[in-house]
Amino acid sequence: MNPLTKLLRRRIEAEGPLTVAEFMTAVLLHPEHGYYVRQDPLGADGDFVTAPEISQMFGELIGLWCAVAWRQMGSPSPVTLVELGPGRGTLMADALRALKMAPDFLSSADVRLVEASPALRSRQRESLSGHAVAWHDGIEDLPEGPIVLIANEFLDALPIRQLVRGEGEWHERLVACDDRGFRFALDGAPSPLATLLPRALHDGAALGEIAEVSPAVLGLARFIAARIARHGGAALFIDYGHAESAPGETLQAVRDHQFADVLTEPGTADLTAHVDFDAFARAVDDVAVHGPVLQGAFLERLGISERSRKLMESASPDLREAVETAYRRLTDPDEMGELFKVVAITGRNAPPPPGFDAP
Ligand code: SAH
Repeated sequence: MNPLTKLLRRRIEAEGPLTVAEFMTAVLLHPEHGYYVRQDPLGADGDFVTAPEISQMFGELIGLWCAVAWRQMGSPSPVTLVELGPGRGTLMADALRALKMAPDFLSSADVRLVEASPALRSRQRESLSGHAVAWHDGIEDLPEGPIVLIANEFLDALPIRQLVRGEGEWHERLVACDDRGFRFALDGAPSPLATLLPRALHDGAALGEIAEVSPAVLGLARFIAARIARHGGAALFIDYGHAESAPGETLQAVRDHQFADVLTEPGTADLTAHVDFDAFARAVDDVAVHGPVLQGAFLERLGISERSRKLMESASPDLREAVETAYRRLTDPDEMGELFKVVAITGRNAPPPPGFDAP
């Protein structure tokens, strides 16, 4: 039995079943045995690969997005450039390199990283050596003032809670344990969290259907929106998820690039949930929400075709093929192009930032 399993079993025996959010938080961020705390899970040798790890083009285009969004805000200086959950620091390193084309933004930007994992902080320190950056445990202690904020595959790591439709009421799904291991259970009392569901979903779901809510994602959205409303700013979130709230379970475990069982050997697989962008947008006031747009369309509007052609011009045949493959993985509807979506928050009267200005 792994140490985290032992700890969680003891906790459930002492306190009773955990909410899915409590289980997820412990699995990912337990100070000693948490999945992100113990290791760097990214890359081909790890459990999963993210867009910035696929190609430098991703971070470069996001970097330029930041500079344009900053100009649209009236070029405030200083400005806090924040990344939430920077992984290996690859996105930020590629962004800062591309931003040499926007020296005015670069010289105004105070770079801050919000990262919970000591293992990943040290990876970020390596990737960003030569840049002045500071780390924070949470968004609450970022300096005041205007921000440009980016977050790729961060929201999916925040804890969700699950509700199961009963006879007319919703009950919270819990994690219990017995001799054979962890298992799902149901709270007997109706859950007040059901009030967070949109009416059609709340009233329309069939018996036994699951709905997910993430107070953590909604709280983060509200916090960032309030900051932007007060001081100005722009925030960009890229993640897998759905554009409209719908019933269905999306909690998933991924180990070694394959789906795994959520409750088996916790802490040895990544645990995430799809982001409900509909709920995200509904949670905020006094700001403009742009999107969601599909990642493929977003990257095309930022110029990924031109950028990949440019990289291919000067590349060896092998490298050319790698650029072509990366371009397809990031944009194809069957790869990351449609499952991944992009949302931005700006000041209420700001124009749409790059990538959100349809057609
Ligand atoms: N953005 C990176 C990594 C995505 S993995 C990329 O695209 O490659 C999720 C990241 O969020 C990791 O760096 C993880 O350690 C961090 N993270 C997860 N939950 C967090 C939390 N509650 N607070 C701060 N960082 C968190």
